[in-house]
Amino acid sequence: MSQCTKCPLRAGCQRVVFGSGNPEAKIIFIGEAPGKKEDELGIPFVGSTGRILDKMLAEIAIKRGDVYLTNICKCRPPENRDPLPTEIQTCSTWLEKQIQIINPEIIVTLGRYALNYFLPQAKISQVHGDISEINIEKIGKMKFFPLHHPAAARINRQTRALFTQDFQKIPTILKQIKKEQ
Ligand code: SF4
Repeated sequence: MSQCTKCPLRAGCQRVVFGSGNPEAKIIFIGEAPGKKEDELGIPFVGSTGRILDKMLAEIAIKRGDVYLTNICKCRPPENRDPLPTEIQTCSTWLEKQIQIINPEIIVTLGRYALNYFLPQAKISQVHGDISEINIEKIGKMKFFPLHHPAAARINRQTRALFTQDFQKIPTILKQIKKEQ
């Protein structure tokens, strides 16, 4: 992946930010694309947005190293613009491989871009915090839990409250999944 030049995003970034965490994680968190700090360090969810995610994980007693963190686009879009549909589509082969290799018990999407990659018609305002099962092409059925993006939670108090409330459901969801196994 680090050698990938399949879309124009690679020409404008410093490095491919492929992901970090436990390759055998039960949870994969999927965001939108790396930002400036992520591009500098090569690690997803660092800087102020990363600190919110770290705080949320600490509150539910889960270590960052126990989950897997990545984005739908692995290269930073110029000036942090939104990734284009063609860029998301081109990069999705990497995400698909990551999900196949990690084979998590649950996919947690962060923000509308990651949500709409899996469920194109869904609205984050309507489905955040709802657990469901989705059928992913070439992968199969997976538990799916969409959340707001921590960057949105950082700038909007109401979104922060929803994000916190939804995030705190994760331990119960994991227990429920274990019971079903
Ligand atoms: S964004 Fe994805 S597809 Fe585009 S160059 Fe980077 S790794 Fe390759």
